[in-house]
Amino acid sequence: FAKLVKREPSEIIKKLLFLGIMATINNEIEVDAMTLVAEDYGIEVEIKEPVDEEAVDMLVEEENPENLSERSPIVTIMGHVDHGKTTLLDAIRSTNVTASEAGGITQHIGAYQVEIKGKKITFLDTPGHAAFTTMRARGAQVTDITILVVAADDGVMPQTVEAINHAKAANVPIIVAVNKMDKENANPDRVKQELTEYGLVAEEWGGDTIFVPVSALKRDGLEDILEMILLVSEVQELKANTDGRPRGTVIEAELDKGRGPVATVLVQNGTLRVGDIVVAGTTYGKVRAMVNDRGRRIKEAGPAMPVEILGLSDVPSAGDLFVVYDDERKASKLVDKRVSKVRQEAIGSNSRVTLDDLFKQIKEGEIKELNVILKADVQGSVEALRGSLEKIEVEGVRVRVVHQGVGAINESDIILATASNAIVIGFNVRPQPQAEKMADSEKVDVRLYRVIYNAIEEVEAALKGMLDPEF
Ligand code: GDP
Repeated sequence: FAKLVKREPSEIIKKLLFLGIMATINNEIEVDAMTLVAEDYGIEVEIKEPVDEEAVDMLVEEENPENLSERSPIVTIMGHVDHGKTTLLDAIRSTNVTASEAGGITQHIGAYQVEIKGKKITFLDTPGHAAFTTMRARGAQVTDITILVVAADDGVMPQTVEAINHAKAANVPIIVAVNKMDKENANPDRVKQELTEYGLVAEEWGGDTIFVPVSALKRDGLEDILEMILLVSEVQELKANTDGRPRGTVIEAELDKGRGPVATVLVQNGTLRVGDIVVAGTTYGKVRAMVNDRGRRIKEAGPAMPVEILGLSDVPSAGDLFVVYDDERKASKLVDKRVSKVRQEAIGSNSRVTLDDLFKQIKEGEIKELNVILKADVQGSVEALRGSLEKIEVEGVRVRVVHQGVGAINESDIILATASNAIVIGFNVRPQPQAEKMADSEKVDVRLYRVIYNAIEEVEAALKGMLDPEF
């Protein structure tokens, strides 16, 4: 420090003494003290974070646009229970087994690829939005397009709405598959009508949402869906660098008795090869073998391709990002660091939004919007509360309701809250026990009210920084 400010060390030591800091020439000095002393000399202190390996995987390496080429879209299927998500996923998967592979074993590895008109499409094989949002909560953005399955004989149901809100929160375009068209009481117009309420307006009605009538059971309309996916993905111009640093996301992972830790990963950039050194979350290892969705051993996997990898030292979590390292020693050092950081974070505080420290986060510029998930006992209260919350006016911040619904606060609400950094407001409802546990461990702020006025008042106070902390 003395060298940097071009003074004698003894002079600095004296100054520090005035500040009540006993230092010798060998001591490190705190940033605060350093700043004060420097100010004395009219020197401004700028703190630079040291660059270390840890940064490497956080960094989505800027790829030179010249090196980018088209990659396949990655699709998730969501919708209400029993509307046909699993049937549709299975039907699409089997459309595509080529003659030579027919009779071969299709492996369920968590994702699969199909080919249409010479182009590939990747499907995440876990239906429902839990998987989708858990991943997003961990910072992974793996979905390019969402297929929203709505049964034509049943129409829009609560989980349909949840799915829409999850997709919207992640900014992922939605294609609606109106399923069970083979049923006598199928009423696709009703589905279209109901979905307009959620901003999904069919093209023939003047909107821009694609609706595809299908029957997953009778395997009707599957090609149409695939073609529409290609259409939407063309607009998105999805790109990756096949020769860039391989990285991607863990889709599923488990400990296999015979094979050890097995992880299905989706490569999102670069080409992953057998022998590569991979860091995934808090584990690492050398890729010993790779297996594709058809159960074949393969040597390399390019962008948008799902593969099962063997060779990690431990089981990563779904949603963990992975990245290839050139050097095993560095990889192990990074993982050590991460493990201890995770431990520290578990002990220390969290950065989730809570009403109590909202004002601080607003002031620090971390928050411009308070995201809220709203649950109430009846639709009327939901609407009333939403209306009042969105009317709250505090300079520079506003309330945004990311999801609303009638009924108890469930796990999906909590997952969505973690993913969109939201608080959960319950009006005359309680969290389900599982949801309560999860809110606790994920440190999601859940507030329960019986009087609308109290809810409004508390949120307003929090926005203005006048909330008495809750102990
Ligand atoms: P999920 O809960 O959304 O995954 O729904 P499933 O795929 O498990 O389907 C629920 C039920 O609906 C099953 O009995 C399916 O056989 C049935 N089903 C799915 N698709 C269709 C369809 O297109 N037509 C008819 N009639 N039944 C279907």
